[in-house]
Amino acid sequence: MARIETPRRIRGTQDIFGDEQRRFAHVLATFERVRALYCFQRIDIPVFESTAVFARSLGETTDVVSKEMYTFEDRGGDSLTLRPEFTAGIARAYLTEGWQQFAPLKLTTSGPVFRYERPQKGRFRQFHQIDAEVIGAAEPAADVELLVLADQLLCELGISEGVTLQLNTLGDAATREAWREALVAHFEAHRGELSEDSLTRLEKNPMRILDSKDPRDRPVADSAPDIDAYLTPEARAFFEAVTAGLDAAGVAWERNARLVRGLDYYRHTAFEFVTDRLGSQGTVLAGGRYDGLIGSLGGPDTAGVGWAAGVERLAMLLEEPAAATIDAVVVPMGADAEARATGIVADLRRAGVAVEMAYKGKMKARMAKADALGARFAIIIGDDELAKGVAAVKTLGAGTQAEVAFADLAEALR
Ligand code: ATP
Ligand code: MG
Repeated sequence: MARIETPRRIRGTQDIFGDEQRRFAHVLATFERVRALYCFQRIDIPVFESTAVFARSLGETTDVVSKEMYTFEDRGGDSLTLRPEFTAGIARAYLTEGWQQFAPLKLTTSGPVFRYERPQKGRFRQFHQIDAEVIGAAEPAADVELLVLADQLLCELGISEGVTLQLNTLGDAATREAWREALVAHFEAHRGELSEDSLTRLEKNPMRILDSKDPRDRPVADSAPDIDAYLTPEARAFFEAVTAGLDAAGVAWERNARLVRGLDYYRHTAFEFVTDRLGSQGTVLAGGRYDGLIGSLGGPDTAGVGWAAGVERLAMLLEEPAAATIDAVVVPMGADAEARATGIVADLRRAGVAVEMAYKGKMKARMAKADALGARFAIIIGDDELAKGVAAVKTLGAGTQAEVAFADLAEALR
């Protein structure tokens, strides 16, 4: 007989189980709680979109669009792409669903995103993001609110220690144009010292040289002119309003004048929460203001600002979360007791008591299961108990035991 080959898990994907799953779920539950405190609405959008949604809004020269997208033709011949991030899809939804009428809109979402990257620690091909956006607000107060939300999330996850908020401004269109020219002049003067990748960036997207990780680029990038000398009064005032808001809210930040977002539509605020605890995968949460994005999708000029964070990277930073505990384990001894226990377990669960039934192995193995699950009570039902209509309820840990009538069990366990 031919041997059947076991299917393999696709490289860069994950099967999330046990302790890992608890961490993962804890990140999502905390995000869900904190976003409600800030009055952000939850939305859900498709996992795939027309390829144009990402290609147009992210820009053809970005790594994500040029190298990392999962793009395929569907059976109808349309080019579709698995979302590599959320912002573009949210902007598309804002336009196609007529959400302009609700602006300014404060939105959050979460779920899987897909990027064809080289898998390594903290870097997957299917990973998960949490995402927060404010669309239709051009005021610096929106940037501040998003940053304070991010800060509170990291605090409530208990991982703010060693995580720094790095902040920069990319100015307005006039600022950016003037700064870009100064950068190009500087990089042209040091062409010979740049990596091949940065020579390409110099043609297509010179700002990206500033955040190059290639050591050959660092001296040239570090000596490049800061944006400060090119800030228009409006752009300077915007940045000052953001930093003043963070100070007022008690959120620590530091200026990183090398922090850029490569895309043309990015304006004003750019930020990253960075840690040194994850090696080279140190950015846990990143975002900025993207006032030109909705315009690039053919919509009206609309302000927007937002961030995304990798759930796996946040989860890796968490202290080990406590294992979930249950209230009780029902331990039936014998076929009759087991039949009766099936009804009892169903009733207890309907009454809101978290119970497990131990139906495998000898008495000893069944009691061991109650301990392993961290149950507070073991409910033992044997032939004697069946005859009397009671269960022997053992308080685990204390070692005490009491008889409780079947009908009173839910009350006694609460
Ligand atoms: P990096 O520089 O690590 O590639 P990025 O700039 O591509 O990050 P963003 O597009 O800003 O990242 O995505 C937001 C967040 O999503 C990142 O800060 C990170 O936490 C997470 N992230 C990005 N790519 C991956 C990946 N391949 N696997 C796991 N998490 C990721
Ligand atoms: Mg990346």
